[in-house]
Amino acid sequence: MIFIFYFFLGTIFGSFAHLLCERSLRGENIAFPPSHCTNCQKKILKRDLIPIISFINLKGRCRFCNEKIPLSYIFYEIIGGLLFIFAMNDRNFIEGIFIFLSLLISFVIAMIDLKSMDIYMIYIYILGFLGLIYRIIYLKIEIEFIKIIGIFTLIYIFIYYISRKNIGDGDYFFYLALFLFLKNEKIIYLILGSIWLGGIFAIIIAIKKRSSKIKIPFCIYIFLAYIIALL
Ligand SMILES: [Zn+2]
Repeated sequence: MIFIFYFFLGTIFGSFAHLLCERSLRGENIAFPPSHCTNCQKKILKRDLIPIISFINLKGRCRFCNEKIPLSYIFYEIIGGLLFIFAMNDRNFIEGIFIFLSLLISFVIAMIDLKSMDIYMIYIYILGFLGLIYRIIYLKIEIEFIKIIGIFTLIYIFIYYISRKNIGDGDYFFYLALFLFLKNEKIIYLILGSIWLGGIFAIIIAIKKRSSKIKIPFCIYIFLAYIIALL
């Protein structure tokens, strides 16, 4: 029973994540105007704001103009629900909320990066700030953790220059923010997992496009590897 509750709670956040992505990409204000149909601009009714259920009720169409509601709405809501259940597994509620928010913000960063090849630093800052609080409460900032960051930074700078600045510095800060949520021994899973996943896809894309000069949005692999590291 509790899982249904968690899932539903997660879908509400997922719906908000969708709004964040869409409005960030269009350079719009997050808080204003209230949710509206992007086709007819009519404000969405309160009873049509229930994640997933409203979508099914309306058969995926706007109540006023009958325009199809993009499937991405329901995709984000389901992801939000699943991430919530995942985050709550084996954690107390407050700690689970921290992990859930870290996952959701990472998902937003990854989706924006996929669509725009750009990392919106505001989300990295929020993630880093949350991570700092989380680390102080649930883990510790000890010498071992500082060492890991030091070594990682040196390797990153090295790769940054030999790749002729082809990897972004936004990715670096994304890694650092996520380190804050992970036990020291789990950090390696995040680093290696993302490189492996990103590498495999880069090879597939390079073969398809018959070119080695491709830019890949890397955040999605960092996000997926973060889930692996949390397991
Ligand atoms: Zn409409």
